[in-house]
Order: sequence, then C-alpha cells, then structure tokens
Amino acid sequence: MKLFAIFGNPVAHSRSPLLHNAVFLHGGIDARYIRIHLEEGDRLRERFSALALDGANITVPHKETAFALCDEVRGIAREIGAVNTIVREGERLVGYNTDAPGFMEAIAPFCPIRRAVILGAGGTARAVAAALAAAGIDVTVVNRGRAKLAWFADKGWRTYDWSTFESDRAYDLIVNTTSAGLADEASPLPEGMLASLLAGGRYAVDCIYGHETPFLADARRHGLTVKDGGDMLVFQAVLANRYFIRDALSSATILQLMKNAFIL
Ligand code: NDP
Repeated sequence: MKLFAIFGNPVAHSRSPLLHNAVFLHGGIDARYIRIHLEEGDRLRERFSALALDGANITVPHKETAFALCDEVRGIAREIGAVNTIVREGERLVGYNTDAPGFMEAIAPFCPIRRAVILGAGGTARAVAAALAAAGIDVTVVNRGRAKLAWFADKGWRTYDWSTFESDRAYDLIVNTTSAGLADEASPLPEGMLASLLAGGRYAVDCIYGHETPFLADARRHGLTVKDGGDMLVFQAVLANRYFIRDALSSATILQLMKNAFIL
C-alpha cells in the first residue's frame, strides 16, 4: 500500500485527506492519505523518510521550506519558490506547485480577464500572480505591509501597500489571498479603498473556502460575480492526485470522486 500525507501547522482543518482518500477508496487505488502536524519545517524530509511516504502535500507555513529541500523542482513552482506537492521518485523528492494551475482552472469560467488585482503578498499571492501573469494577464498586488512586496516588484508587477494605493483604474478580477476573513470578520483592504475597487470590478475570488467572508459578501453587494476557494482547493488536489497515482485515473474521474466527497 502506498502512503501519502499533508504536512502543515495548523493542519487539523485540512480537507485534503477527505479528497485524496475518496479517490483511493472509490477509484480502486491501494493507498492511504494522512495528516501530519509539523511544527518545524526543517524536519519535513526526516518525517517524510521515517514514514516511508510516496508523496505529500505541504500547506502553511512550510511551502517555501519544501521548495528548498526537494532534489528537483518542476514547472511553475520554480518561479514561485513554493512547493505544495512532493512526489518520491526512487530516493529523490520532486516538487510541484498545483495551487497556481488550480487557481487558473477555478477562474476559467471568468473571461475575458485582462487586468487583475491581488490583495495580499504571501505564498498564495505568489502562486496566483505567477499563474495570472503566465496567462498574459496584467497583475497588480496590494498588501497591508511593504516588506513582502519586493518579490513581486522584482518581477516587474505593479505593487502598492495600503499607504500608497490609489484605486484609479478598473480591474476585471479582484482576488483576496490574505487571511483576512479566515477566522475573523476583517476586510483585506480599508473600507473606502475596497469599495472603490469593487465599484470598477466584474469578478471577485476569495481563496478562503467554507464560509462567505466579508470580502465576498461586499463584492456580491456591489454586483460582482463571486467565487470562494472551494474550486481552487479541489482543482489543486486533482492535479496533485494525478502526480501521486501517476495518471492511473483520468482528471475527470478524480474530479468527480473528489466532488462527491467535498460537500461544503
Ligand atoms: P501567508 O501567511 O503567506 O500570507 C498572508 C497575507 O495576508 C499577507 O500578505 C498578510 O499581509 C495578509 N494579511 C493577513 N491578515 C490580514 C488582515 N487582517 N488584513 C489584511 N491583510 C492581511 O498566507 P498564504 O498566502 O499561505 O494563505 C493565504 C490564504 O489563502 C489563507 O486564508 C489560506 O487558507 C488560503 N489558501 C487557500 C487555498 C485553496 O486551495 N483554496 C490554497 C492556499 C491558501 P502582511 O504582509 O501585511 O502581514
């Protein structure tokens, strides 16, 4: 039997075991997927080996550490500098980022998108920005603090912190990648700024899933088409699962099995 895991801190809330085990159970794959609470990211490789894992997902706050410890990193993860999926090939650990393509699949019904603004500048913002830019979409990043913006500015994207941001242009898509609204009623931008941004927007996506955040509620009131992070979660999991089972099932089959299991 193959064994897979998700590493994170916190990790108890993760729905990844539910999604992957549904595919293994109902898709006839001899494998299991478990949750591992990991405090120290630099012990990730040691724990991976001790459990004799075949692959893993990595969540907050260890994605950058996972990037650094892989023997090889493939695809868009190289640009993002963060890995959320690891597959063991012999003794080598190979890293991927499925958050980025998962996000793009989630917004596929929203088109055309020419200009997007990303709220937040953490690991998820990096994945979303890289994916949007790779699709030829004009990217702007707005974050509460200045420190995390340097990585985005180096890529040539427009960056603002709250003190410098002026919403003087219209964005087709507004994405919340901050954790504002995850476990509180906070807004990812001060009220007035958010209102003028939403007034010029068409689509709003929140990467948070499981409940409607103040950001999405506000966007809905402004008449935008909205979506939470549920589809992104499922799509990134489908892609990770294909790496885990080496394409033994089609994406469509994996998606259906995961959707059956994932009832928000
Ligand atoms: P990080 O910790 O790397 O980044 C958090 C960002 O949020 C920072 O830019 C931080 O700004 C900002 N922030 C935090 N609190 C506030 C606040 N109250 N107001 C404004 N800005 C705030 O987190 P991640 O990028 O890893 O994750 C972000 C979110 O995305 C989480 O809610 C997570 O659950 C979700 N997520 C969803 C996925 C899915 O599949 N649906 C996949 C991955 C993540 P500052 O720099 O100023 O501190």
